[in-house]
Amino acid sequence: MQSQQYDVVIIGGGILGLSTAMQLSERYSSGKIAVVEKESELASHQTGHNSGVIHSGIYYRPGSWKSKFCVAGVQKLVDFCDANEIEYDRCGKAIIATDESELGRLQDLYERGVANGVQGLEIVGPERLAEIEPHAYGVKALWAPRTGIVDYVKVAKAYAGRFQEAGGEIYLGAGVSNIIPTSGIQEVQTEKGSILGRHIINCAGLYADKVARLMGEETNLQIVPFRGEYYTLKPDSQYLVKGLIYPVPDPRFPFLGVHYTRNIHGQVEAGPNAVLAWSREGYKKSDVKLGESLDMLRFPGFWKMSAKHWKTGISEMNRSYRKNVFVRDLQKLIPTISGSDLDTGGSGVRAQAVAKDGSLSDDFNILQGNIAVHVLNAPSPGATSSLAIGEYIVDLAIEAFGIATDN
Ligand SMILES: Cc1cc2nc3c(=O)[nH]c(=O)nc-3n(C[C@H](O)[C@H](O)[C@H](O)COP(=O)(O)OP(=O)(O)OC[C@H]3O[C@@H](n4cnc5c(N)ncnc54)[C@H](O)[C@@H]3O)c2cc1C
Repeated sequence: MQSQQYDVVIIGGGILGLSTAMQLSERYSSGKIAVVEKESELASHQTGHNSGVIHSGIYYRPGSWKSKFCVAGVQKLVDFCDANEIEYDRCGKAIIATDESELGRLQDLYERGVANGVQGLEIVGPERLAEIEPHAYGVKALWAPRTGIVDYVKVAKAYAGRFQEAGGEIYLGAGVSNIIPTSGIQEVQTEKGSILGRHIINCAGLYADKVARLMGEETNLQIVPFRGEYYTLKPDSQYLVKGLIYPVPDPRFPFLGVHYTRNIHGQVEAGPNAVLAWSREGYKKSDVKLGESLDMLRFPGFWKMSAKHWKTGISEMNRSYRKNVFVRDLQKLIPTISGSDLDTGGSGVRAQAVAKDGSLSDDFNILQGNIAVHVLNAPSPGATSSLAIGEYIVDLAIEAFGIATDN
C-alpha cells in the first residue's frame, strides 16, 4: 500500500464504510477510492455482532434522521438483497404490552409508525397475538408484518464485492494510527504503512470520535461503549419463538429492551441488554483496556450520564451477572420460558455517542468538513439504513469535496 495516492480514503470496513464505498465508486468511476480496515476480516465489529433485524421504522420520531434513513433504507436493502440473491425473511415483529400501564406507549408507537409511513401496522388483542406468537403473553401488541431478518455480514461483504468490481481497493489489517496533512493531501498512517488521500470518510464505528480528533475535529461527543449480551435458546426450545418478539421500549433510552430474535440461520437469540463496557471492543465482562477506561473516566459527559442514569446502570449490571434476573424479564414476554431453555450466547458492543452534558445521542450524527466527512453516531437501525446513509454520505462528500461525478 506504501504511498499509494487516492482521491478518497474511507476508514472502516463495517456496513456503513462499505455501503459508502460501493455507492461512491458507482457515481465516481474515475475516482481512486480505498477502504482501510484494521481487522483481518470485514464487518468484524458492530456489523458482525448485531441482532440482524431489518427494522421497519416504527420507533423513530417523525422527521428524525433515524426515521428518514430507516424508512428509505428498508426498501433499498430489500431490493439489494433481491438483486444479489441474499436471503432475508420478512417474518414480522410483535411489540408487546405486558400490562395496562404500557398501552399508552404502545398506541404512541403505532401512531409514530403510521406517521413514518410504515405499512401494515395493527394493534392486536390476545387472540390474534396467540395466532402470531402462540407462546407470548400480552394485553395488546403492535404487529409489524414488514419487519424482517437478514445476515448483515453477508450484506456488507456483498457491498465490498461490488466496490472491488468497480475498481475499489480494500486494505485489511490496516488500523489507522495517525492522519497528517501534508500540502493538501492527507497522509493516512496505518499498521501496514501509509497511504495518501485527498479526502477522508470516517466510518470507524467504535473509534469514530478518535479518528475525527486525529483530524483536528473538535466535537463535544465521545463514544461510550455499551455491551449487549445475548442468550441463545437451546434447539429444543426454539419452537417458543416464531419471529421477533419485543417489549415496549423505555422512551428515556436509545435501546429497545431485551427481546427475542429468530435469526436468518434459524437460531433464536434473547437480548441484548445494555451494560457499560470497559473497553471499546469489550465483548466479554473481563475485557478491560486501561487507557480506554481512563479516557472514559476523564470525559465529563460520562459522569453526567452516570449521575442521570445510575439506577438503570446498576439494574443492567445486576441483570448481566444474574441469569435469573435476565430470565425474569424474558418471562414477561414468554411466561413459560426458564433458565434451562437458554445457553449463554454472544455479545455486541454499541458505539453510543455521549455529549459533554451527559445526554445520549439518540439520532445519527454525520459531520461534514471540507476535507472529511465523519460518521460520529450510527446506532441501530444503522444496518437497516446502510444504503440510505451511504447515499447521504456520498451526496455530502460530492458537494463538500467538489467531486465531478459521472451523472
Ligand atoms: C448489539 C447490537 C445490536 C444491533 N442490532 C441492530 C439490528 O438488529 N438492526 C440494525 O439495523 N442495526 C442494529 N445495530 C446497529 C448496527 O449494527 C450499526 O448501526 C452498524 O453496524 C454500524 O456500522 P458501522 O460500519 O458504522 O460500524 P462497524 O460495523 O463497527 O464498523 C466500523 C469498522 O471500523 C473499523 N475501524 C475502527 N477504527 C479503525 C481504525 N483506526 N482504522 C481502521 N479501521 C478502523 C472497525 O474495525 C470496524 O470494522 C445493532 C448494533 C449492536 C451493537
